[in-house]
Amino acid sequence: MLLKPIAIDSMQASALDRRLDTELARLRAADLYRVRRVVEGAHGVRMRVDGRDCLNFCSNDYLGLASDPRVAQAARRALSDNGTGSGASALISGYNREHRQLEEALAEFTGYPRVLLFTSGWAANCGVLRGLLGREDTLIADELNHASLIDGGRLSGARYLRVRHRDVAGFRDALSGSRDSGLGTRDSGGRDPGTAGSMRLVVTDGVFSMDGDLAPLTELSELSREHGAALMVDDAHGFGVLGPSGRGSVELFPSPESRVPSPGRPDIYVATMGKSLGASGAFVAGSESLIEYLIQRARSFVFSTAPPPAIAAAALEALRIVRAEPERRARLRANIARFVRGAAQLGIRVGPPDAADVSADVAIHPIVIGDAARTMAVSRALLERGLWVAGIRPPTVPVGTSRLRITLCATHEASHIDALLDALQACGLAGASLAA
Ligand SMILES: *Cc1c(COP(=O)(O)O)cnc(C)c1O
Repeated sequence: MLLKPIAIDSMQASALDRRLDTELARLRAADLYRVRRVVEGAHGVRMRVDGRDCLNFCSNDYLGLASDPRVAQAARRALSDNGTGSGASALISGYNREHRQLEEALAEFTGYPRVLLFTSGWAANCGVLRGLLGREDTLIADELNHASLIDGGRLSGARYLRVRHRDVAGFRDALSGSRDSGLGTRDSGGRDPGTAGSMRLVVTDGVFSMDGDLAPLTELSELSREHGAALMVDDAHGFGVLGPSGRGSVELFPSPESRVPSPGRPDIYVATMGKSLGASGAFVAGSESLIEYLIQRARSFVFSTAPPPAIAAAALEALRIVRAEPERRARLRANIARFVRGAAQLGIRVGPPDAADVSADVAIHPIVIGDAARTMAVSRALLERGLWVAGIRPPTVPVGTSRLRITLCATHEASHIDALLDALQACGLAGASLAA
């Protein structure tokens, strides 16, 4: 149902609105204007969008758990036990039994000593970086890291060294060049003055959200260790999906002696629960000391209302399903293979702009078109055919690399993927040299 717009011509535009309207007009002219589409009903591979039925290829609900009846039932049970809101931040009176159970289950699953819940991945990344780093510290970050890692890093005031995407030599240079006396405690930002020397933190997405490629975790982990730096991985798109047991991108780099990879194991592991778990929120996994420190110092944790207990109950049930039903990951991988094979047969180039190959494990598959207007025109044409594929433009991706971002889910059927391939062909993408 649409609301009638208020007649605004009779109202005097304020100075603020005039300024904003100028900027909005600029975005429109550059084909960078964004709108939301209204979904009716549950999230899934079939959805009703703006009043039309379509197949959804732009969801991060990779395992199809966002509308799983068992997850919804767990949430309903917790809702009837606990009501809706948690009522306060976790440090005041908002830390329910459901939150604690989820933290314990996630710690057990990830193999880390402790886990801390946040309301979102955004809050987790900003909270961790701002909480851990101050102006005397150095952050060494992949240039294509998620926006929340960039903002968190900036907010911390730490020296920010941006490294070319997946460039191991670049990380090495940054680490070699950034060594300092370790005495920089004067200007301590978030930390108490005098508590510790300066720190260097390497931070990367595990799976890059718009490219679908993997961070070189083994190398980054070795480099970090070699240079005495800490390693943080944001595995929003890997957790639940990658690895034989769904433990994420770290499970793709296993060590021989342990269930959870120790050489490749980051000091700080962040994952979200709004993607493969079909719930909401995020968690940080790490050592006892890390979690205790974040409880004291992560502002987005300390000064924010705890997530609803029902959301924690939903995530806990989703985690149980992740562990109990590896066939979901197998189906996802089969779907990825069908799509990648079909696209190759049609001569459609799938994958990040700078890499030749695509990962057989990752659910994110971009088709780089380049021009923003053309990308959005193809996305609209696909939607008219009943296929919902997001067009991604700057500033989410670099200028000139606008793309369709296709995501596959365990719940897609073979016929859905074939319909997508047919539609991509019908929209003129087959056999074309797309990228500039
Ligand atoms: C989605 C995402 C986030 C943010 O998580 P939310 O829970 O949606 O706020 C952080 N990092 C990456 C890599 C993401 O893809």
